[in-house]
Amino acid sequence: MKLSKSDYMLGDFCARALWLKKHKPKLLPQTENEWCASGYDVQNLAQKLYPGGVVVPCQIWEFDKGAELTKTLSAQHDILFEAVAKLPLGPVCRIDILQKEGRKWNLIEIKATTSVQDDHIKDLAFQYFVFSNAGYKIKNCYVLHLNKDYNRKKKLNIKKLFTLKNVTDDVLDLYEETKEQILFLSEIQEQEKEPRAPIYKSCQQCDFYDYCCKKVPQYSIWDIFSAPTADKIFKKIKSYDINDLNASDYDGKQFIDIDAWQKQKIHCEKDNIRGFLNTLKYPLYYLDYETIEPAIPLFENSRPYQQIPFQFSLHVQKTVGGKVTHFGFLHQDKSDPRRDLAEALVEKCGKRGSVIVYNENFEKKRNEELAQLFPDLAKDILNINKRIVDLLVPFRSRALYHYKQHSSASIKKVLPAFTKLSYDKLDIKNGGEAMDGYFKFINGELTPKEEDILFSGLDKYCAQDTYAMVLLMDVLYKKAKS
Ligand code: SF4
Repeated sequence: MKLSKSDYMLGDFCARALWLKKHKPKLLPQTENEWCASGYDVQNLAQKLYPGGVVVPCQIWEFDKGAELTKTLSAQHDILFEAVAKLPLGPVCRIDILQKEGRKWNLIEIKATTSVQDDHIKDLAFQYFVFSNAGYKIKNCYVLHLNKDYNRKKKLNIKKLFTLKNVTDDVLDLYEETKEQILFLSEIQEQEKEPRAPIYKSCQQCDFYDYCCKKVPQYSIWDIFSAPTADKIFKKIKSYDINDLNASDYDGKQFIDIDAWQKQKIHCEKDNIRGFLNTLKYPLYYLDYETIEPAIPLFENSRPYQQIPFQFSLHVQKTVGGKVTHFGFLHQDKSDPRRDLAEALVEKCGKRGSVIVYNENFEKKRNEELAQLFPDLAKDILNINKRIVDLLVPFRSRALYHYKQHSSASIKKVLPAFTKLSYDKLDIKNGGEAMDGYFKFINGELTPKEEDILFSGLDKYCAQDTYAMVLLMDVLYKKAKS
């Protein structure tokens, strides 16, 4: 049975997951096989650094054909893209770039990240094992990744956009371990019987979670504790159920979460809520940004994965519990949105009054970047930062906590716990969808009609994020008075 690089990486995460993929593939979620746009673009751009490179012409599943073609083409060319190697007993792989150096070859793996990660080394160790045992003499192994410090000028400089990191020593260090793991996983995937595997918190990231973790309640000890602590607790109480914990064994937030869940109650610390409310200065400006973070910088003066704000929503409230007025900014043009956004922000946020955000690090960082980019607006933008008050604080600190929050202070959990407002009926339901939609717009992938639908969805979504904060502020005032 074939053992591809993705099989190997899955099996390395959990051998049972590999077995389930091979023997019970219907358990996998039926998602469309979509290309990751940013990863695909990074791959294409990186190939431009190797002029004269030849793509091995075979489909992604044609490993036999690809391996044959790679053998033939490697005798004629010094650089091959998507080169394939295959071993008789099953391991197969495709390397992004196979580059000749003297009589040997370099393996180069392209990654759309801004650093080398542990998985990249494992990935290359697998490729090294397959290519070297298929008869290719390997000189060096590299990860070609994005350079996080590259600041784009008018024209994209591909040489500066990428960093080539030699990881040969790290790959060689893993050789024996990789060999053993390949043998182990090859046997596992061939065996008839499903392997047993203990379940851990890391199962929450696995596609087979619903199948393996039926005994874990929807809200469990995994949501309250770190992975090692949750494992220790499970060993002791043999249960994942929060109802089986003794709340008095814990303190701080963990006690509050357990106690609130077991009693299905709301935890409220009035003095702390009042302390928070006393820091507010009216009028209040409830502010929220939507951003994109392109892997390849789209605009002058931006870096890989820099968050580029393209939209903000602002609800303004002059008095406690008073009426709110709304202003929304959405850049409906494919150019750099930041100047227009910064000007609108400065104009609409006034000079005084608290600026309410949910998770201040995000908005503050965007504002600092805007101030640096536009020195003429810096004073006003940084004045906004000085006025920021983080509405996340009373919820994260558990000054107010609803058992339905399930140990999360995310606004998407807090809002439905305390109000009737929900994101369910919106066309765009979260920041990820907003980002994907706007990215498609920037890339010219939408028809004019689709653009209109997107803009309307973005307007409603972003406005709801700030209106949600208005409602949560009301909740805090009511709790403080009650
Ligand atoms: S849910 Fe856990 S045990 Fe099951 S396959 Fe995934 S990682 Fe392995």
